[in-house]
This record gives sequence, C-alpha cells and structure tokens, in this order.
Amino acid sequence: MNERISVDVEMRQSWRYASGAAMERFCEGLRNKRIEALRCEGCGRRYLPPRPFCGNCHLHLSHWVPVAQEGVLEAWTVVCLPFLDGRTGTVRNGPYGMGLVRLDGADTTLNHYLAETDPSRLAVGLRVRAAWRDDLRGAIDDILHFEVMQ
Ligand SMILES: [Zn+2]
Repeated sequence: MNERISVDVEMRQSWRYASGAAMERFCEGLRNKRIEALRCEGCGRRYLPPRPFCGNCHLHLSHWVPVAQEGVLEAWTVVCLPFLDGRTGTVRNGPYGMGLVRLDGADTTLNHYLAETDPSRLAVGLRVRAAWRDDLRGAIDDILHFEVMQ
C-alpha cells in the first residue's frame, strides 16, 4: 500500500516580461508624465493602452498621439478582498477602487486603480485625473491611481 507523503518546498522564480514595442514606448512616456495613444490611420480609433494592431481594420499602428491626463470613468468597482498585485508581486489590501478610464483624446479605456473607495462617491461619467508617483520609473504604476475631480 502506497502512503501519501507531503513535502513543503518554497520555490522562487524570476522572469523578465517583454512588453513589446508599443508598451515600451508608452511606458517611457509615463516616465515624463506623458500619456500617448496609438491612432489607426484607417478608422481613426485611438487606442489606450496602445496596441500594435487595430482591432477593427487589422492595420499596423504606428501613429502616436498625446492624450489628456484626465477623462471619464466608464466603469468602476470597489474591491474589499486582499489581492496579489501582478504588477508588483505584493498584496494589496482592500478596499481599493478599480476603474475603466477613457482619457480625453482616447477611444478605449485604461484599467487602473481609483483613489476613491466609497461606492456612494463613484459613478459612471465622473471626471477623473491621473495622480503620479514621485519617483517615475517608466511603468504603468507611475500613475498611482485616478482621482475624482471636484
Ligand atoms: Zn482601424
């Protein structure tokens, strides 16, 4: 008869993720508090976050356009459970807000954290703006979160 055994082992892995040319340029812009989208020459759609091809036309995208640091909250939620942040590898304790933000000048939404965690103060259509970290690194979390504008 086989007995079941258990061995506790802690494994560590490290890896580097290649974000691609579009995200690399996008992140370099963030280092300078510059947010840029990629615009399709075929249909004019402005993608943020940028992507290499248009989802409508399937054209390669290479025309960068600046977008504003403020825009409209298109969807939101408040998360109350701890979450392992895939970007940092650290646990983010709740509550924290998450939103889909369409920045002025973009046609698509950016999924990001919201400063507001009170559901009674959040609504689709609210104006929000980016809040930046002090030590910019050229990463998506250079934008700490989006704040509701008064
Ligand atoms: Zn297109």
